Amino acid sequence: MPKTQELVWTDWRSQLKHRIDTLEALREWITVTPEEEQAIADAVGKYRWSITPYYASLMDKEDPNCPIRLQAVPHPNEFRSYPGADPDPVGDTIYRKTNRVVHKYPDRIILLVTEACAIYCRHCTRKFHTTDLEGTYFESSEAASWEQDFAYIASHPEIRDVLLTGGDPLTYSDEKLELIVSRLRKIPHVEIIRIGSRYPVLLPQRITPALCSMLEQYHPIWLNTHFNHVKEITPEAAAACDRLLRHGIPVQNQTVLLKGVNDSLQAMQALLKELLKIRVRPYYLYHCDNVTGVSHFMTSIEKGREIMRGLLGHMTGFAVPQYIVTTKLGKIPLWEEQLHQDEQGIWLENYKGEAMRIDDW
Ligand code: SF4
Repeated sequence: MPKTQELVWTDWRSQLKHRIDTLEALREWITVTPEEEQAIADAVGKYRWSITPYYASLMDKEDPNCPIRLQAVPHPNEFRSYPGADPDPVGDTIYRKTNRVVHKYPDRIILLVTEACAIYCRHCTRKFHTTDLEGTYFESSEAASWEQDFAYIASHPEIRDVLLTGGDPLTYSDEKLELIVSRLRKIPHVEIIRIGSRYPVLLPQRITPALCSMLEQYHPIWLNTHFNHVKEITPEAAAACDRLLRHGIPVQNQTVLLKGVNDSLQAMQALLKELLKIRVRPYYLYHCDNVTGVSHFMTSIEKGREIMRGLLGHMTGFAVPQYIVTTKLGKIPLWEEQLHQDEQGIWLENYKGEAMRIDDW
């Protein structure tokens, strides 16, 4: 591990300050391939990239196909054109109501807090406003007043669930986060607040006791995180999730199915088993969207279904996530039905393909 004298390993602000964002700095951690070097050059003025020293320490020094490296280091395929690629396949820009509010489902909204993240994941669904230097979601600016956003939520009594996302909301200081969460808590119809954050994975030092103590004052708070590979489940990450759980914050995981990272049954099972050991519940397995600059991570839907067939019945029920795709029409399950109907009635099929008929009243 390179020695950066001023870096305080356990301090998240120090980790952010010492992020790796130059070729020279990256060379202190890994043997950079000519392809990676070219991609870093091509990224200038186009895509942000930066890697926390913590996450860099998980990268394989010599293997360019290391699943951690693939998620963090720019790749030449980000600059290729792929048919059907869309900068905003989930439709944030269609459903936006204010500078920060995206209202796509009847009873819940997302609040896009920031474009900043600890690391700019190469596969980000919101690459057009997190990683892409030319793109932004924000109408005016990220620093614009929040009054219009809070007013929208307050004037829509059907909103009972608010998801803070971005970017990564935990990039904000505890004080700034508390201003947002406490304002939401004053709106009577907001029943639950969810935080979407990859900090437990990319920089678990951010999950400080002070942050957890602040958040627990505003329960019910849930946190959805994003582990993609078993290598990411380190003692530090496990301890971060444990701190959240001990403060009453349920932690759930959303994995993205990524070619070369976790698109095998073995890789997926290893991840899901370790998640249960750290008491993080697997929630969604997202099919990778055809996002501009991300298409090279896509697998076929059949590959996802093959993995699902290998999980269902072979692992504890709550270890098996829902396999879904996020579209402009919303989230849609991709998993096949275990129920068929014919003239004899309703048939159920188990994980071995054995069928039985049941009476339907
Ligand atoms: S932390 Fe989340 S929002 Fe930020 S780049 Fe990674 S996947 Fe995208």
